[in-house]
Amino acid sequence: MLKKLMNIMFLSCCEATLLMEKRCAEDISPKENFRLSLHIRMCKWCRIYQEKLEILDGILKIKFFQDGKVNINQSDIQLLKDKVIKNLNI
Ligand SMILES: [Zn+2]
Repeated sequence: MLKKLMNIMFLSCCEATLLMEKRCAEDISPKENFRLSLHIRMCKWCRIYQEKLEILDGILKIKFFQDGKVNINQSDIQLLKDKVIKNLNI
């Protein structure tokens, strides 16, 4: 019984990171938010992950979101593709 309650209350690190990513893209439910907050308070590694995620999200919003719209031009996309292909050595 206690183990089942623990599974309901506490997230794994994998579930926590997925919820953090989801929260950046959309709203999460109050239940998900509670479980995530609980996990982050107890898990040092997920706290660090959350901090890095917030920094990256802030940088991306400054770089690509202006006036409520996504501003990514085709040359940025092609530049990213070229870098990925170069790093993959294809
Ligand atoms: Zn964790």
